[in-house]
Amino acid sequence: MAKADYYEVLGVSRSASAQEIKSAYRKKAVQYHPDRNPDNPDAEERFKEAAEAYEVLSDEEKRRLYDRYGHDGPQQAGFSGFGDVEDIFSHFGSLFSDFGDLFGRRRRSPRRGNDIVVELELDFMEAVKGVSKTVTLQRQVPCETCNGTGAEPGSAPTTCMTCHGQGVVMHRQGIFAARMACPSCRGAGSIIKNKCHDCGGSTRQLREEQLKVNVPPGVDDGQSLRIAGKGQAGPAGGLPGDLYVALHVQPDERFAREGADIYCEVDLHLAQAALGATITIPIIGGETTFDVKPGTQPGQIEVLKGEGIPRLDGYGNGDQIIRFVVKVPTKLSRRQRELFEKLAELDEVKANSKSSWFGGARRSKGRKSSKARSKRGRG
Ligand SMILES: [Zn+2]
Ligand SMILES: [Zn+2]
Repeated sequence: MAKADYYEVLGVSRSASAQEIKSAYRKKAVQYHPDRNPDNPDAEERFKEAAEAYEVLSDEEKRRLYDRYGHDGPQQAGFSGFGDVEDIFSHFGSLFSDFGDLFGRRRRSPRRGNDIVVELELDFMEAVKGVSKTVTLQRQVPCETCNGTGAEPGSAPTTCMTCHGQGVVMHRQGIFAARMACPSCRGAGSIIKNKCHDCGGSTRQLREEQLKVNVPPGVDDGQSLRIAGKGQAGPAGGLPGDLYVALHVQPDERFAREGADIYCEVDLHLAQAALGATITIPIIGGETTFDVKPGTQPGQIEVLKGEGIPRLDGYGNGDQIIRFVVKVPTKLSRRQRELFEKLAELDEVKANSKSSWFGGARRSKGRKSSKARSKRGRG
């Protein structure tokens, strides 16, 4: 990949003064500083790019070579850029201290451990009512053999002589002085001569753990729970990461769910719909009795306030929405047939008449779709 133009990298003109270049670099370095952009390779790349541009443009000789020969110029003068971020800190130690606190603080402090994600299957009712479940996970924990020190039992890490255990050293360059990560111990403050045989000095070991997870009532498919501090242990005594439990909720045969509301269909006999009836309806807690009004229509919707799912924010429950399905008998006994024919006579309905069937279907279809709309409107 072609190298970016150094002036463009810093966002300055080709005639920029030394001061302009310095302040432009300061801005970029603050913006892309690794402390502010942890685990961001793109920012790290830009941080390096800006450092390289500054290294060349802040040096009169290198800048002159760059202006004349492009990237080849400084390279031929022996400049080859920076290997990694640490390189930049050691090189610009004085400049960073000049920039103030943001850079002065830089040291290799223990890093936080990574987060872990585990999957958890729940059935519908477990998600609705809440449940306590055990998950199994592989996680890095502080090594038990060496107590997380990284040193073989019986030995101990020795204090770094270079920094006297401080992890940082003062780097002097002219009138500037900067605190830098100690090059001998890489900022740890101690040196492990006799490494722990179990973790090889890494201070951590992988262990399978069983963990009880309390799932609160009302969770839904696709949500996840965060359990702080149950991720990977941090290297060299850093804080542990977090555990995320990704929830997968199985659908239910009777209930459908939309947020905190649940939907169910209830079958009615033709006579129950016409005459009204007291029936039993499934609800989340079990069952309840419900008075069906006489003249209940197919597709009619009733709402049971507060019979839905607990809201995660604690503000009560959603509703249960019932949709009645009126069952028309498909097989009639002789007696039933006689009675339906009587009913038809009474209502002056012409049985087996095609034209009246067609008209009736069209009417009931229109009614149904208006109910469907009102149901959707609730969500
Ligand atoms: Zn160990
Ligand atoms: Zn040291």
